[in-house]
Amino acid sequence: MKSFTNLYKNSENKITGIAAAPGIVIGKAYLFTKEKLNISKAPITNSDEAISNFEEALKQSKKELNKIFGIAREKMDNVRSAIFEAQLMILDDPILLGNIEKRIKAEMVQPEFIVSDEISKYQELMIISHESYMKERAQDIEDIKYRIIRNLQKKRWQSKIEKNLIVVSESLTPADTLLFSRRESLGFVTDHGGLTSHAAIISRSLNIPAVVGTHNASTLIKDGDTIIVDGFHGYIITDPTEVQLNFFTEKQKKLFEIQKGLEEFKDKPAVTLDGKEVNLEANVDVTGEIDIVITSSAKGIGLYRSEQILNELESFPDENEQTVIYSKLASRIYPKFVTIRAFDIGGDKFRFSEYKEPNPFLGLRGIRFLLENEKLFRTQIRAVLKASENKNIKFMIPMISTLDEVWRSKEIIHECKSELKKEKVKFDNQIKIGIMVEVPSAAVMAKEYAEEIDFISIGTNDLIQYLMAVDRGNDLVSNLYQEFSPVVIRTIDHIVKAAKHSKIPVSICGEMAADTLAIPLLVGLGLDSLSMSPVTILYAKRIIRDFKFKDAKALADECLKCKTEIEIQKKVKKFFDDNNISRTRNIL
Ligand code: PEP
Ligand code: MG
Repeated sequence: MKSFTNLYKNSENKITGIAAAPGIVIGKAYLFTKEKLNISKAPITNSDEAISNFEEALKQSKKELNKIFGIAREKMDNVRSAIFEAQLMILDDPILLGNIEKRIKAEMVQPEFIVSDEISKYQELMIISHESYMKERAQDIEDIKYRIIRNLQKKRWQSKIEKNLIVVSESLTPADTLLFSRRESLGFVTDHGGLTSHAAIISRSLNIPAVVGTHNASTLIKDGDTIIVDGFHGYIITDPTEVQLNFFTEKQKKLFEIQKGLEEFKDKPAVTLDGKEVNLEANVDVTGEIDIVITSSAKGIGLYRSEQILNELESFPDENEQTVIYSKLASRIYPKFVTIRAFDIGGDKFRFSEYKEPNPFLGLRGIRFLLENEKLFRTQIRAVLKASENKNIKFMIPMISTLDEVWRSKEIIHECKSELKKEKVKFDNQIKIGIMVEVPSAAVMAKEYAEEIDFISIGTNDLIQYLMAVDRGNDLVSNLYQEFSPVVIRTIDHIVKAAKHSKIPVSICGEMAADTLAIPLLVGLGLDSLSMSPVTILYAKRIIRDFKFKDAKALADECLKCKTEIEIQKKVKKFFDDNNISRTRNIL
């Protein structure tokens, strides 16, 4: 078969974007353009009638959204479907609705103008925040505005899409993505959006390949064009040549066979041909995923993102509520271990509205927030300790950037333990305390940190972002977000050596561990554990069982001498070819 690189060389029919949901699809494009609504500011004579029209449009919008929310709940977990619940809540916001009605009466102009103006104010506030997360949410609100105005103008959602087409659009709202999936769309391509856009999140949940952030796909692709979407690498091939069509059809078939063949690895260990075992653990983002972890053959939970509880509950659970959550989690996974990460609040994650930060990624995030809000931190520590009675919990601290933060955290944990002893509460007094190394300052001094703690988990998502000074969610600079950069590889090597020096375990829980192409290199660098999305574990196992640790180590030694990302990628790919391992990349 033709090699991947040769296939694309000099290829003018390739559009590059961000690989948002994995998979390969070949099919006809459906160019989705939303009808531009003309918003009238014409005067009205009867405000009661205008308000009644507005209320009718609101009712219809709620009806539509309720239906979409119902489909979402059927197809996705609670957290993901909550996007639509949040939209419904905006439609019930008494301040927004009251303002609109008041203005209709006062200004005596068409309600569609007032609706557009009022909702745009919301959006502007979000857009000027300069955060990709808030910008994505502003897009969601655009959907609500569009929906109400469309209903005021008594127009219906236009999409005569046939089944089995690839939707290409400037952007897609969560509702568009979901409704198209009902029409069995094969894939999604958008000009805008990053990895955290809702179109991307929903595509991943629904297992529909997607490439986002292409900038201009919707102008380059025409309705009915045959295109290939490679959601593994973030490419779209337009008007494919026969060679390209054959290559990707073959690849699709192979992929299907691989997925079918993976089941046999469930009961086998992740051990290299020369006997080195790698611990494959699962990352858990939402409660619903625990069932998958249990059946996934993961050795335990390497990262439990506890801040997700706050999203799920939409409130801050007290000590007892947290104790119940962590106890349930620990007993479900028992006798395996769960690594609970302290709330990583701030940055692109759950935020408290009282903190307005111009640059949240460099702001009050992770441990910085927790030490600033010590009472809240203590509540979580006490709950984790109370749930640790069966000795299968580890506790991990995110965003550590100074040794002081480690010392202070240990002190607080020690004080919480003393309190619980006095209260005669049983807990694991030897509970292992670790840190995430995801800030360059912690990476540089990894040796000193390793002397203070029980384990290290490398958070490559943030580590790469901070090492390369590149926003992990910004599609404009995604070419600089380089997992295989020599800087990243050498930094990981430095951290692993520091951990080994202190004889403490070291793992990776960032997305890099789920990139199957990176696995031999990471094993060769000496990582003890890799923690990844549970659905990737069998892919990883298949790869690990196909090479020798000795060879992976030689690969790592060679890569550590490289000067560029390309050189490292070449060596990694050659390793796969030399060892006859399928290079099907899987980033889930
Ligand atoms: C990381 O930064 O790699 C990580 C695992 O944490 P998060 O993605 O939750 O920031
Ligand atoms: Mg992180």
